[in-house]
Amino acid sequence: MLDKKDIEEIKEQLLEKKTKLEKKLSQIAIKDEDGNWEAKYVDQERDDDVNAIEIEEWTNQTSVVEVLVKDLEAVDIALEKIKHNTYGKCEVCGIDIPIERLRAFPEARTCTNCTLPE
Ligand SMILES: [Zn+2]
Repeated sequence: MLDKKDIEEIKEQLLEKKTKLEKKLSQIAIKDEDGNWEAKYVDQERDDDVNAIEIEEWTNQTSVVEVLVKDLEAVDIALEKIKHNTYGKCEVCGIDIPIERLRAFPEARTCTNCTLPE
């Protein structure tokens, strides 16, 4: 079982990660009213060569945004679990996830033997 001190440390780690991810996201994306992140368009004009490159860049940016959003979601899920005292349990088999794994990967949702179904 995790003690209070462990949880506090992990929470700090998660919050720090969340801040970093949000900072990164805000540089390349904007949050809409529903709280969804959308990659920023570099330019709105559509009829020259430069714009084709920009659209390509934007597409790349979109996939970066997707990865960051996924990470951010995982961090949020972990923080939610801490709030509800369910943090540190494998979501598949229910055992306590070893503290070493949680320290290295605080948003882990399973133990090392399990993988989440897609
Ligand atoms: Zn498991």
